[in-house]
Order: sequence, then structure tokens, then C-alpha cells
Amino acid sequence: MDCPVCKKNVMIVLELDEVEVDYCTECEGIWLDAGELELLLGGATASDALLGSFQAANTPEKKRKCPICLRKMEKVLVGGQGESQELIDRCGHNHGLWFDRGELQNVLKMGQFDDAGRIKALLGDLFCSEPDKEKQNPCI
Ligand SMILES: [Zn+2]
Ligand SMILES: [Zn+2]
Repeated sequence: MDCPVCKKNVMIVLELDEVEVDYCTECEGIWLDAGELELLLGGATASDALLGSFQAANTPEKKRKCPICLRKMEKVLVGGQGESQELIDRCGHNHGLWFDRGELQNVLKMGQFDDAGRIKALLGDLFCSEPDKEKQNPCI
């Protein structure tokens, strides 16, 4: 699978608590397909809550292509009001969601989708405890 940002085949599969996610080794973005999201969040209720919080966004940000169907994805806002929103990419044909580097962690930081902090802990293993550190981070 090609990374929708780097546009080359630099994606690897990572296993997070038995859920496979696609991770780009260059830009550190994460692709979650629809089923993976549900597994990662621990059930349909949580993933519906996340998907239900999406709002269409008007943004000049460049549209990315879905790595599955190669059609342009839509930009959606996730989360509550104001500052805590994240802008992510969603395939309108339900293939999945694209999170740029740090976006998945920010969505999880909102708390409402990851009550026990379980996913944050899994991602913490992956990205160290400080996902905002520079890319040279030795533990990646
Ligand atoms: Zn990439
Ligand atoms: Zn698609």
C-alpha cells in the first residue's frame, strides 16, 4: 500500500494489541481501515461515537487520495468544540481514516474515545511517551 502523503510504498504493518494498523515509516502517518478502528477502540459503540463526531470541514488543505480506492478523501473535523478539534482525512467510500503524524494521539487525548487510556498506552510504546518530539527520536 502506498502512503497517501509520501505517495510511495513505505507503509509497514504494525500490531497494536493484535490490531493491525498501517504506519508510514517516512511521515509517521497512520491508516486505519474501518474494521481496524472498531477493533482498536474496543467495539462498535466507541467507533460509532468517534465517527459520529465528524463534521465536514472547509479547508484549503490539500486533499489526499485513499490508499485503497485512490479516490480523493474528504476532510473531517473530529471531536468537540474549538481548540480540541483535529482535522483528518476520511475515505467517503468507507475504506478508512488517515491520521497525519500525531493526529491519532491528539484525538485520543480528547479522552472521550479512549476512556481507560488503553490505546494511548499502546501508542506510547510505539512513539515513546512524547509523540511531539522531533523525528530523530531514537526510540522509533
Ligand atoms: Zn508517508
Ligand atoms: Zn477509499
